[in-house]
Formats: sequence, structure tokens, C-alpha cells
Amino acid sequence: MEKNKIEESVCPKCGSTLSEVITTKSGKRLQRCSAGSWNEETRQTEGCAFVKWLPVPDETLDEKCPKCGAPLILSTTRFGKKLKKCSTNSWDPKTRTSSGCDYVEWVKGTSEPLDEKCPDCGENLVLYTTSSGKRMKKCSAGSWDKETRSVVGCNYVEWLK
Ligand SMILES: [Zn+2]
Ligand SMILES: [Zn+2]
Ligand SMILES: [Zn+2]
Repeated sequence: MEKNKIEESVCPKCGSTLSEVITTKSGKRLQRCSAGSWNEETRQTEGCAFVKWLPVPDETLDEKCPKCGAPLILSTTRFGKKLKKCSTNSWDPKTRTSSGCDYVEWVKGTSEPLDEKCPDCGENLVLYTTSSGKRMKKCSAGSWDKETRSVVGCNYVEWLK
């Protein structure tokens, strides 16, 4: 059930066509401008640097909506956050309203990469959002070991207000 149509693919910066859809390691989908290319040696984009991020396709879950009993779907935002929503819900871009069941549940413990370095060890930081909506920055070199119930690796954490 592929609902995502590839739109008219023209770069808004330079008017060139966009190249085909690439899927990154983290499952995000993007299209680069065909007038730009990634240079492995200089590690920079040459030419037009426009990148169009595409929505990650929704996944139908084997779970039922607690409000209406319809199947839930797992949706991933552009920033890598995941939410479960009711499959009867749909967004009409023309009227800018949603119709159907409005059940939404954010998936617990989402994290997204940050463009910041850990002050302790220099690794990248990630922004972690807990199930209760609290947010913290933590070091990607640290991980929680369930067996020992302690942090393995770098334990840098900064809670955000
Ligand atoms: Zn371009
Ligand atoms: Zn529902
Ligand atoms: Zn660190």
C-alpha cells in the first residue's frame, strides 16, 4: 500500500531535477539535487547542496486503536520521532483539517542526533525524549546496560528544562 507519490521533483534552489530517492542507514529518505554531488575526498557537497527530505512511509501495526478499534499505524517524523496514530485519521492539506479518529500516542524514549559534541569525550550528543516528555542531551558513547543497571561508556547527561 504505497501512498507516497513522488512529487514533481525539481530543485527549488537551481531548478535542476532531483535525483532518485536514497534511504539512509537510519531509515530516512531523501533526494539530492542532480546539480550537486557528494565528494568523498573533501567530504563536502559540490555544486547545489539542496536536499529534500521525504516522509518515512507509515507502517501498519498489529495493534488496535483504544478509541475506535481500527488498526494503528506507526508514523515517523522528519526528526526521527515516532508516533502511533489511528489509521482512520487522515490529514486534508486543502482544508488543513484532520478527519477520522484523532487518537495519537508518542512512542516512548525517542532520540534524535544533535549537531553538538560531548564536553567530556567529544563524541556526538543525542537528544533523548522520555515517555513523560522530559528531554535530555546525552552522549552517544554511553549506553544503558539493563543487566548491571548502570551506564556503560560515557555517562554525560544534561537535562533540559
Ligand atoms: Zn539544485
Ligand atoms: Zn481510532
Ligand atoms: Zn561523552
